[in-house]
Amino acid sequence: MTIIDGKKISDEIKSELKIKVEEAKSKGLGVPGLTAILVGEDPASQVYVNSKNKACEKIGMNSVVEILPEKTAETELIEIVRKYNADKNTNGILVQLPLPSHISEQKVIEAILPEKDVDGFHPVNVGKLVIGLETFYPCTPYGIVELLKRYKIETSGKHVVVVGRSNIVGKPIANMLLQKNENANSIVTVVHSAAKDISEFTKHADILIAAIGKPNFITAGMVKEGVTVIDVGINRIDSPESKKGYKIVGDVDFDSVSQKAAYITPVPGGVGRMTIAMLLQNTYNAFIKQNEI
Ligand code: NAP
Repeated sequence: MTIIDGKKISDEIKSELKIKVEEAKSKGLGVPGLTAILVGEDPASQVYVNSKNKACEKIGMNSVVEILPEKTAETELIEIVRKYNADKNTNGILVQLPLPSHISEQKVIEAILPEKDVDGFHPVNVGKLVIGLETFYPCTPYGIVELLKRYKIETSGKHVVVVGRSNIVGKPIANMLLQKNENANSIVTVVHSAAKDISEFTKHADILIAAIGKPNFITAGMVKEGVTVIDVGINRIDSPESKKGYKIVGDVDFDSVSQKAAYITPVPGGVGRMTIAMLLQNTYNAFIKQNEI
């Protein structure tokens, strides 16, 4: 059994990008820039935005963080998005979700220029993904594809079972692996909460992708020998023995499932590590496209 090391691969990607950013600078081509917009004071969102900001700075990209009060009006937020749409130093824009309930997330996402939508959530980019055109892939699914690719795990002709159909993980990863290209070409099944017994599906997976949001939900009896398991879940559970009083676990019961798997991602240290690396990759890609390099 091989543990898929998300830390190692994400560090590799960041190092590769750091070199490319330095090259662009030294050639006088400019510096890629990401602008993150955060509305309100949700502590988890603040942590995410800060870590994105730090990751940009570490590889030499410009990073702007715009923090707006909780009561910001939808129109005001859209105006700010438009300001960054027009800003030459901003190649990528991300609006940290969730937004306060008085703001329509969909309207705000649609206000971002598709060319700067480095989260890959704009309907134009989602549509391009589905029909197999070059686009910004949402960062978590993009990270999964990159892990499979860099571990040389065959996807062509393999049966991928995705548990979960969210717009940020389940639907995009299913559509990406369905494409007729060398890092995909899979036979894809998507399962969700309407399934009476998901093990009827998961047992037939060559590659199982769990994006459910339920701690240790997938157990050894639900998978076959030799399966590749990609655990997207990030769940906080009580753990009186740990210092913080809690620990983070995935959607997969790692201890039992790893006994049967050929490859498995740990939580933490697996898919979660990849998301920011792929955001940086998307920002770099946006910079290259916008500058026609
Ligand atoms: P979500 O929007 O809550 O979607 C969960 C999906 O799981 C839904 O499609 C739901 O089905 C399905 N589901 C729930 N219970 C089920 C059951 N008993 N049987 C079968 N399907 C079931 O979650 P998400 O945003 O995709 O996130 C999933 C997990 O990944 C969470 O733990 C989240 O924290 C984590 N995550 C991690 C990253 C990262 O690593 N960077 C990024 C995003 C998310 P219905 O559609 O029928 O309700």
